[in-house]
Amino acid sequence: MMSHAVLAHLRETLAERFGKNKTEELCRLIYEIARREENEPLNILTLALEGSALEQIRFTTLKQTLLKRRFPNLAPEDLKRTYLAPLHLPSESEQIPSMRELFKPTAIFIEKRAKHYPLAGRVMNAWPEVEMVEIEAIDELRRPKKDWMKDFGKRTLAISVEPFDLVKPCPCSTSTVSCNYYLLNIGYGCPYDCTYCYLQAYQNLPAIVLPANLEEFLAHMDQKLELKPGQFTRIGTGEYADSLALDWLTEYSKILVPHFKDKAVTLELKTKSDCIENLLNLDHGGRTVIAWSVNPERFCNEEKKTAAVQERLRAAKRCEEAGYGTAFHFDPLILAEGCEKDYERLVEMLFDHVNESIRWISLGALRFHKDLRRAAEYRHPESQIFLGEGRLDPLDEKMRYTADSRIRLYREMVRQIQRYRQNTPIYLCMESPEVWRSVFEGKPYQGKIDQWIACGSS
Ligand code: SF4
Repeated sequence: MMSHAVLAHLRETLAERFGKNKTEELCRLIYEIARREENEPLNILTLALEGSALEQIRFTTLKQTLLKRRFPNLAPEDLKRTYLAPLHLPSESEQIPSMRELFKPTAIFIEKRAKHYPLAGRVMNAWPEVEMVEIEAIDELRRPKKDWMKDFGKRTLAISVEPFDLVKPCPCSTSTVSCNYYLLNIGYGCPYDCTYCYLQAYQNLPAIVLPANLEEFLAHMDQKLELKPGQFTRIGTGEYADSLALDWLTEYSKILVPHFKDKAVTLELKTKSDCIENLLNLDHGGRTVIAWSVNPERFCNEEKKTAAVQERLRAAKRCEEAGYGTAFHFDPLILAEGCEKDYERLVEMLFDHVNESIRWISLGALRFHKDLRRAAEYRHPESQIFLGEGRLDPLDEKMRYTADSRIRLYREMVRQIQRYRQNTPIYLCMESPEVWRSVFEGKPYQGKIDQWIACGSS
């Protein structure tokens, strides 16, 4: 990690000349350029001054020079949309807990009304040495976020009885193409620690919350879904939690998979784990698809504590052998020098492990709300992921790579995937109709993603 003393000196020097707010923008640019180029921040400043003395250079000149160096491929209109948030890094004396330590819970809370559910017994047996503290309601755990930013509640478990509102349509932006997806919330919080995880900006409780009453909820769910006749519907569990990371403990899959085996719905369990043992002997009726998010090995530090991509693909092969459909999400696609080769190799690895069971593949370039960056940078200062050329996308004000660079990457991914299987349903996640049209050259499944995906499910 970059020396704080160096950054503090730089900030002081610039603040004397430009004042606080302008200095924050310059520091952000210099910090990111130094990390991208593996150079010293003071060298970056010296180079940007181009022989002038700091006292003589104007702020706008210095900022423009730095912007061009930081975002060499952005057009002038995109340069205006870069987001130069103040740097918020942990001090050198603050230790981020090692990832190995992160999951064994150090505290367990249980709502009194959840005590008699089987999940309570399983959690107690798993960690008899950790006291299970009874509470009236999960809300009692709320604390100011700054107090739990470092470990993010990843060592606290909470067992709750959830109200029956665990299912809802996927909240796609209005300006992006929707894929008729429903979300089933089977928990909140995740033992894994991806640097880009949106929960870091969104989560408001310092705990991994597990509902104890999933069976009761499912009994109410079917009326709520309001399925339209003849419409292909998917329901997925991976919005606020990884679907299978804790399945060895929760055994949710043993409830979910048999429940959906004769429903007119396809259940998707999305994971970055290889935790599939519970699945292998379940009666799934062909209605459950096990899905993996995948990224090349070079980005494994961005997905801490998750199963290695090889392990995920081996797990996929075992699920294929057990008769499950499989799906893959290349999401987030991360742009970095030479990444096309890494993704090409990943597609090859995928098809080395599975083929016929693949029901759909999605592609989604890195995107994130601008508030995520502050939390992620504080928790994962070593991450490379925010050093790409992202800018605020007018589409929905999320940070994204430019449309041109996303389209190039998507086209290449589609080409690679179709080398192995021409008719695989491929869709884009959270993209505009214009990007869809450019990637798929206006093919007929535009706007009808559910039918397109259903082709792979027949
Ligand atoms: S696996 Fe998903 S939910 Fe878990 S940390 Fe990673 S992105 Fe977040």
